Amino acid sequence: MASSRTLGTFRLPPLPTIREIIKLFRLQAVKQLSQNFLLDLRLTDKIIRKAGNLTNAYVYEVGPGPGGITRSILNAGVAELLVVEKDSRFIPGLQMLSDAAPGKLRIVHGDVLTFKIERAFPESLKRQWEDDPPNVHIIGNLPFSVSTPLIIKWLENVSQRNGPFTYGRTRMTLTFQKEVAERLTATTGSKQRSRLSIMAQYLCDVQHILTIPGQAFVPKPEVDSGVVHFTPLPQPRIEQPFKLVEKVVQNAFQFRRKYCHRGLGMLFPEAQRLESTGKLLESADVDPTLRPTQLTVSHFKSLCDVYRKMCDEDPHLFAYNFREELRQKSEKRG
Ligand code: SAM
Repeated sequence: MASSRTLGTFRLPPLPTIREIIKLFRLQAVKQLSQNFLLDLRLTDKIIRKAGNLTNAYVYEVGPGPGGITRSILNAGVAELLVVEKDSRFIPGLQMLSDAAPGKLRIVHGDVLTFKIERAFPESLKRQWEDDPPNVHIIGNLPFSVSTPLIIKWLENVSQRNGPFTYGRTRMTLTFQKEVAERLTATTGSKQRSRLSIMAQYLCDVQHILTIPGQAFVPKPEVDSGVVHFTPLPQPRIEQPFKLVEKVVQNAFQFRRKYCHRGLGMLFPEAQRLESTGKLLESADVDPTLRPTQLTVSHFKSLCDVYRKMCDEDPHLFAYNFREELRQKSEKRG
């Protein structure tokens, strides 16, 4: 296996191992916070090699913990690494890494859900959206309960070209529960095809680059992990507002085993459901008897474009929520 020695000229000096750091600073994982650490630096080097060429890159690492991935990033010849860690127990260990890599590691004790990375790196890194991606990367192994809502938030940022995507088509390499990684990258017709597949794939090129078995982590989690690499597309495959796409996709998948007309019908008030669903599917040229998992991104593009027109014609339509209609009906009956 090629060593990360080949990746850049800078090498961290000899340091205590991650296991020793954990002992030294008493960094026992907190189970309730889903903390599982990667201690094997050959594995973290492998993840970093798969993230792409990081020479002179500006990297934002989310949730560094005891710093395994952090070390591999520093050894990859980056210009600067900014880490955001919520748990204060990890800060002294990270400080030690920062001392070993002078001027390269910036540590923020904070929350990735609120941290504003768009102000953290030099303006000069910004690229036009259609240009090659900027030399800015997001990398992280976060608890699964954080990584899934975070990727939804970042996908919305991709669609609006703001947040971390103020720099251009910033690439991301993130770890998820293996099933979530499979959903993110699932192709049309596959069992794992879901809302996440469409939301990720209409905006990004998405690759499942590595599976990490549970036993690679300390302590060992119940499930395996998947590392997913995202490169935002120069041109999104659906050119409608994120919230509109999300609504169409969410409705389509809510009855995943039924024909797609069933879920899509829930976009419309009951009184007009049959007629409007028929109009939507016919104008979008989508076979009503396809299952949601059989719909391609291009089917969703047509559905979103037609639904957008219908919303423009009826200003109340987008705000319609079938659950609210059901609730009001049951209240009246009650
Ligand atoms: N990246 C390290 C590794 O691979 O060994 C640690 C992984 S551990 C699963 C997740 C890390 O993310 C922990 O250090 C945890 O404290 C941190 N974390 C969890 N939620 C966070 C948040 N909202 N903001 C910043 N860090 C967070």
